[in-house]
Amino acid sequence: MAKRDYYEVLGVPRDASPEDIKKAYRKLAVKYHPDRNPDNKKEAEEKFKEVSEAYEVLIDPEKRRLYDTYGHEGVRTRFQQGDFTWRDFSHFDDLRDIFKDLGFGFDFFDDFIGNFFGVGPRSRGGYRAQKVRLKGEDIRITLPLTLEEIYRGDTKKIKFKRFGTCPVCHGAGSADGKAETCPVCKGTGVVREVSTTFFGQFIREGVCSRCNGEGRIIVNPCTNCSGTGRVYEERELEFRVPKGIREGEYFILKGEGHVGERGSERGNLVIVISEKPHKVFLRDNENLHVIVNVGYSEAVLGTELDFPHLDGRVLRVRIPPGTKPGEVLKMKGYGLERNGYRGDLHFHVKLIVPERPSREYREMVEKMQMEEKSIFNKTDRFVKPS
Ligand SMILES: [Zn+2]
Ligand SMILES: [Zn+2]
Repeated sequence: MAKRDYYEVLGVPRDASPEDIKKAYRKLAVKYHPDRNPDNKKEAEEKFKEVSEAYEVLIDPEKRRLYDTYGHEGVRTRFQQGDFTWRDFSHFDDLRDIFKDLGFGFDFFDDFIGNFFGVGPRSRGGYRAQKVRLKGEDIRITLPLTLEEIYRGDTKKIKFKRFGTCPVCHGAGSADGKAETCPVCKGTGVVREVSTTFFGQFIREGVCSRCNGEGRIIVNPCTNCSGTGRVYEERELEFRVPKGIREGEYFILKGEGHVGERGSERGNLVIVISEKPHKVFLRDNENLHVIVNVGYSEAVLGTELDFPHLDGRVLRVRIPPGTKPGEVLKMKGYGLERNGYRGDLHFHVKLIVPERPSREYREMVEKMQMEEKSIFNKTDRFVKPS
């Protein structure tokens, strides 16, 4: 089935505010709540999921931007399995509020979430437990970069701590390799709990907490890792900074996160870029801006100045004769490089006027004043701005 447009799903215009989106979701969540639709529960559940997916994307400015620009393809990578599942839903608190206001109650709602989280898709043989806790966690680190490093595209060493495979048991978690069937779930990895609420009886199925859904329990845990199969390790890796990278952009290094318990798959490493403010340069996307202070004589007569750039090169900056304060001297292609595009370097000319001139300076300026009088004979003093 083709995926419907998220705006259409929520029934809001493309320029809807977050408040509009919240309001629309609220209405639809109540409408499609599976327990309000006992006659077509399955359909309601699907609708409920569809509106929740649309809400998840449109309420998040970053995901919404991706969706607006690239459509469904743009947000696919933001879902853990390439497509929306309840595990991607990060607004359960909002739902909780919505249903709490309606008097659905807290306990009931926890059951509701428990049903979504604890148990995977229905298979022919009943329920299949998801080994939720086994996969290694992601690690998120912030990488502060100077503008110099971003300009040059340096290679940075990144050092961090993560869970690695226990060297004693090689990740098995067992001291001797012996394991037995979990006595709580009888090896299924799933436990059932029946609870009775005002709305009726609910069967909650969840991951067995004794064995974490694995169905088996280690008899003699490895003492080095307490049976988890993992211990902390130092990891150092090199990261090549792409030229012109921006604040807040991030990279996912697959399989560089924590190793999972008992030898299961590693999570990812997420590197988030943070740009340190620079003393001299102001950045505007790929363009760089600098103020250049000049004296009165330099403005009139012109001059050449040495300017140390971000990569250590010394640029010759030419201030032409007759340069006026507020003028911008542009050096094309001397800004930041990004994806093959190069920005410009802008010098904003500022005139330095001494507040307490020396006697000599004053005398010279007084002479200049005589000259300026003849200028104002030919030039209007007050002019309409253009
Ligand atoms: Zn071990
Ligand atoms: Zn168990």
